[in-house]
Amino acid sequence: MIKNLTKSILIALALGIVVGLGMNIWTPDLFPTVDKYFFSPLGDIFLRLIQMMVVPIVFISIVLGTANLGDPKKLGRIGGKTIGFFLASTAVAISIAMALAFIFQPGEPGLLDQQEEGFESEKAPSVVDTIVNIIPTNPLDAMSSGEMLQIIFFAIFIGFGLTILGKKTDRIFKLFEQANELVMYLIMVIMYTAPVGAFGLIASAVGGAGLDAIASMAAYFFVVLAALLLHALITYSAVVKFLAKKSPMWFFKNFVPAMSVAFGTASSGATLPVSMRTAQDRLGVKKSVSSFVQPLGATINMDGTAIMQGVATVFIAQVTTTNLSFSEIMMVVIIAILASIGTAGVPGVGLIMLAMVLDQVGLPVEAIGLILGVDRLLDMTRTAVNITGDAACALFISETEKDIDMEKPSVKNEA
Ligand code: ASP
Repeated sequence: MIKNLTKSILIALALGIVVGLGMNIWTPDLFPTVDKYFFSPLGDIFLRLIQMMVVPIVFISIVLGTANLGDPKKLGRIGGKTIGFFLASTAVAISIAMALAFIFQPGEPGLLDQQEEGFESEKAPSVVDTIVNIIPTNPLDAMSSGEMLQIIFFAIFIGFGLTILGKKTDRIFKLFEQANELVMYLIMVIMYTAPVGAFGLIASAVGGAGLDAIASMAAYFFVVLAALLLHALITYSAVVKFLAKKSPMWFFKNFVPAMSVAFGTASSGATLPVSMRTAQDRLGVKKSVSSFVQPLGATINMDGTAIMQGVATVFIAQVTTTNLSFSEIMMVVIIAILASIGTAGVPGVGLIMLAMVLDQVGLPVEAIGLILGVDRLLDMTRTAVNITGDAACALFISETEKDIDMEKPSVKNEA
């Protein structure tokens, strides 16, 4: 099913680009109406269907993933390895981004004054708040408002409890397993509508931005794109080859269905069910590893987002003729890592979190308005990179943790 689905999604994406761009060029007056009543609703219906499943799937799969990892020592080791990997790969990603931005200097000085673009920033949370807020005061509240980090914290805690209690809670464990079956099935049903949704989403994005927006921001656009491609092709290939001891070609060839869904939806969260399935079925990642690493990654590991934030910060410094000192550059690296952790896996949030990075180094948040026009297209690409990083990490952990035996997770064993 996944193979046909990928083909249909790719065809739908191509069709959406042609139709969106065609309308932008030849019938620009008609586009807003068609977009409002046709393209956007198609995309929104699909996004809403899939967003509906995000909280249940993250919660259920992290509980199961944690419980399946077995003893707490193993959980600690794998958890540590996963977080270490996420932090290191995001640091590499942002370094590539900043290096390219300094080399190619995409920002033309004075651009901000000429364009006077406005961006009403939403208040980005402070770093300390982001960390303290990981602990929910009310887990149900966290679920109803979709606070992913809080949900993950609560799920890991429950998974940990299930592991320790073993036989005493085997019925609850079974319930989670069955709930997982159900959620996976529902996702599969929803994915049949993905090509239609992807068509609507891309037609709306391309038609709205048009070639003009891309041309005026071409230098920024291409530097972000180049950094995303370099990171995906070099860093992830190195991870797959040297850490997981597999062929990078094989990895990308098999993971492309999930990447195309990420590109279509611009949401790591929405792509999660497909990326987990693809990693398990086509890359052979162990179920327990995939259900622990990938939901966590879809929430906190956003290499592509960090890349955009790195290039955008340098770009905005350049257009406002601000010189960033070495310590400010280091600050950008650290804040962008934290900002990407705090970025939810849904469309466009990376841009809101960029406000936090700009704020910390004293750059004007309104300048985000400059890059707004091309962000949707970059969002699609960076989301594909975001989820590929999670899969590369899952493959690496699955290949190096040979003793995780899915058939005999400790909880079931004791039951
Ligand atoms: N759309 C991205 C994701 O879901 C997040 C972002 O950078 O806006 O991975």
